[in-house]
Amino acid sequence: MTSRPITTDVLIIGAGAAGLMCAIEAGKRGRTVLVLDHANKAGKKILMSGGGRCNFTNTDISPDNFISHNPHFCKSALSRYTQWDFIALVERYNIAYHERDLGKLFCDSSAKDILNMLLAECEQAQVTLQLECLVDSVENTNDGQFDIHTNQGYFRAASLVIASGGLSIPKMCASPLGYQLAEQFGHHIWPTSAGLVPFTLHTQDKASLAELSGISVLSEVSNPRARFRENILFTHRGLSGPAILQISSYWQPGEAVTVNLLPDMDLLGWLKEQHAARPNSKLKTALAELLPRRLIPALLGTEVADTPLQSFSHARLAAVAGQLQQWSLKPNGTEGYRTAEVTLGGVDCNELSSRTMQSSKVDGLYVIGEVVDVTGWLGGYNFQWAWSSGWCAGQVV
Ligand SMILES: Cc1cc2nc3c(=O)[nH]c(=O)nc-3n(C[C@H](O)[C@H](O)[C@H](O)COP(=O)(O)OP(=O)(O)OC[C@H]3O[C@@H](n4cnc5c(N)ncnc54)[C@H](O)[C@@H]3O)c2cc1C
Repeated sequence: MTSRPITTDVLIIGAGAAGLMCAIEAGKRGRTVLVLDHANKAGKKILMSGGGRCNFTNTDISPDNFISHNPHFCKSALSRYTQWDFIALVERYNIAYHERDLGKLFCDSSAKDILNMLLAECEQAQVTLQLECLVDSVENTNDGQFDIHTNQGYFRAASLVIASGGLSIPKMCASPLGYQLAEQFGHHIWPTSAGLVPFTLHTQDKASLAELSGISVLSEVSNPRARFRENILFTHRGLSGPAILQISSYWQPGEAVTVNLLPDMDLLGWLKEQHAARPNSKLKTALAELLPRRLIPALLGTEVADTPLQSFSHARLAAVAGQLQQWSLKPNGTEGYRTAEVTLGGVDCNELSSRTMQSSKVDGLYVIGEVVDVTGWLGGYNFQWAWSSGWCAGQVV
């Protein structure tokens, strides 16, 4: 015997950044809103974000900071609910925050402040949260409603919002449900892959670079599609740091990336000056003025590093400059979803309304946040996409 469904105007799957924002906005419009999540807590990724301080947005947001097969898609949502709108909300709650490099905004105290703000807004908007709720199946009824069967009962909703996020960090409750549901409703899904993720190295590079673990250097990292100037970090597993995470979202397996460890200088000119001024100095002694000492033999080899400058021809100095300013590094792979901050690819934007996030395949179905094929750079862009897309859907669901 099938029990009677619990009815609601809007059912949102996923109590993360996008789902909570959508719920708040829909609730404020007087819609009854139920948010389901299989986790035991809402907003787990918000809590772990930005090293616990949540880089909740960026002062400088442009469509160029997002990766998608349809680069125009994000424009409408980002311009309808901007970073200034979210900052105004944060200020209304008197949450102290600060700006770091490249316009990144972080909480002074804790990411909890952002989650508590969203939960307070949900409460005011009379949103119901149902946690530890496992979705068994979702069906479209003949009268255009959605039936959602779960371990906590059977729900019926006029609007269904998929806000279950991407695949990164399965330990934090990430799951493929959003992609599966979108596919079930006839949507095309662009292949997914891990983005904003550390690189792993081939055995030989790993052995020579392992001792550099902990060193961080401002670098410019590039490939033919993108270029980022931020720190790189050597780790015991490979390479990380903001510049590496950024380029990882533009990296294809098998490709090399170019690392310029001294992006702001004419290194060859400087080496020639040193060659003339202190010919007896070893190369590593001179370069230690520019780079961490341990890095030099690891990248150039001990023999070269120990050679006095006077033994270098200008052509060999040019080769040294090339090794440090055009270091061609071929990663073995990435650390994958285990540590990635985001998922690239996802629900094809061309089958969603850029204004409302509604599906063009099924009336009443909406897809928001990371499950959509819109991936932001590091720096608060992914949360801004979640806020903006969630807000847009929240106006119409
Ligand atoms: C370690 C880390 C740090 C990050 N730091 C930042 C940062 O500082 N700034 C920034 O902009 N971005 C950051 N990000 C990215 C950002 O967290 C995400 O892009 C953002 O949370 C996406 O929002 P969302 O609502 O789409 O998905 P999520 O916030 O992931 O929410 C999805 C929700 O759906 C639920 N769910 C999943 N599957 C199911 C299912 N089968 N049934 C029911 N519920 C389900 C999940 O439990 C979760 O609550 C970080 C990510 C990680 C992993």
